[in-house]
Amino acid sequence: MAEVMIIKIAESSGFCFGVEKAVSKAFEATEEKANKSIYSLGPIIHNNQVIDRLKDSGLDVIESIKDIDEGTVIIRSHGVGKSVYEEANIKQIDLIDTTCPFVKRIQNIVKDYHQKGYQIVIIGNPKHPEVKGINGWCQGQGIIIQDIEDIPEDQTFENICIVVQTTMPLKKFHELSGILEKMGKHVKKFDTTCFATKERQEAALDLAGQVDAMIVIGGFNSSNTQKLVNICKELLPDSTYHIETAEGLSGKDLSHFERVGVTAGASTPDWVIKDVIRYLNKFK
Ligand code: SF4
Repeated sequence: MAEVMIIKIAESSGFCFGVEKAVSKAFEATEEKANKSIYSLGPIIHNNQVIDRLKDSGLDVIESIKDIDEGTVIIRSHGVGKSVYEEANIKQIDLIDTTCPFVKRIQNIVKDYHQKGYQIVIIGNPKHPEVKGINGWCQGQGIIIQDIEDIPEDQTFENICIVVQTTMPLKKFHELSGILEKMGKHVKKFDTTCFATKERQEAALDLAGQVDAMIVIGGFNSSNTQKLVNICKELLPDSTYHIETAEGLSGKDLSHFERVGVTAGASTPDWVIKDVIRYLNKFK
């Protein structure tokens, strides 16, 4: 057993401003709702603890505007496609739009270049709501590339516009966009990764290089948390632990680690991080 465990917290971790804004607007809306029903289109964030609290405050999750005929709908920070705004307008459903400005920027680029006749290429996970939403600003006609094997062979375009999901590691963006730009005669390439993601990834990598084990806190379905896990595993393949809450550490013997680093995804609230630190302090 290590005599003293040193716990270090990543310089940048936890809630980013986009998620913070979405969550606080959601809590505000439930407080002010009076007799109106409030819904969110998909879970506000990828964090079950926050979702449970919002549910207790009266926020219901719907999958589509089709599911309701009245009420107020919160659009989460991941954003949605253009058709959702049109559908809500037709049904006269009020929207509270918490789309993160970084995501809005991508949607505007895609809308603009699609109108100019460019083939849109989105580097990202096709199943992620942010990517689906972005594709909804070019009529679903974007080519979505997650990995090298997704790149179509021998396909060329006169004009292509490349954007990237906000949480994609920069290294991967450069690797894939370097190949993709050869597909077009005229290429517009935008680094649309967000600074909050970059900061968290750099801080996690930096900290993983200084400790014996890393604890990464965040939803198992959170894309940006998963990226932090992968980054830490590059340096600490056998001693990176991905947990959602402090309970995730129970039964794990960490007592032999001298230095333990802690980081958290952009959708992990402060109180969950504090709980984990409290748990780790037992090993001190
Ligand atoms: S991770 Fe970046 S893009 Fe996503 S909500 Fe936070 S600030 Fe916005």
